[in-house]
Amino acid sequence: PKRQIRARIFLPHLVASMEEVEQTYIMIKPDGVQRGLVGEIISRFERKGFKLTGLKLFQCPKELAEEHYKDLQSKPFFPKLIDYITSGPVVFCIFANLVNCIYFGKAWEGVGVVASARKLIGATNPLNAEPGTIRGDLAVQTGRNVVHGSDSPDNGKREIGLWFNEGELCAWAAALEPWLVE
Ligand code: ADP
Repeated sequence: PKRQIRARIFLPHLVASMEEVEQTYIMIKPDGVQRGLVGEIISRFERKGFKLTGLKLFQCPKELAEEHYKDLQSKPFFPKLIDYITSGPVVFCIFANLVNCIYFGKAWEGVGVVASARKLIGATNPLNAEPGTIRGDLAVQTGRNVVHGSDSPDNGKREIGLWFNEGELCAWAAALEPWLVE
């Protein structure tokens, strides 16, 4: 309704604490950076309507890559994966849904940004990724699949904690919000 939209336009400073909002950790892998796809990949999430709340360019140390992918430690491709991720700078971003304004004291929780980002990214093996997805459009092989996205909200929190320090995230009010979220 109009009243809600007006309230959220005029009260943009009332942003909920970032902890209340579902967020996803996106990493543009070294091949994505080397191939000049950083802008293209970030742009896809922005155009979808997600809000960028953190951004960094970083040469990933081995220990951090191993911690990030610790669930895959027993896989035969693990050493190759760590070499790949540490082979050049990566860009990490955090995206949140544009639904975190407090409206009359109620926190609008981000719903589904993690699952939605996974859909935009596409299947792990680019051969199986649908056209229109990032991997479907921009990658050919599992070992060079250009981008990572958290697979659950809990993993999102874990990965954000691993790759970002406190104070590096930005909670900000997006003026477009009422046009993206009803
Ligand atoms: P996703 O990145 O889609 O969540 P996984 O968590 O299963 O996929 O794997 C993490 C990453 O490990 C993949 O994105 C890919 O870079 C790499 N990987 C997975 N399976 C293989 C494989 N069979 N050979 C080489 N690399 C792989």
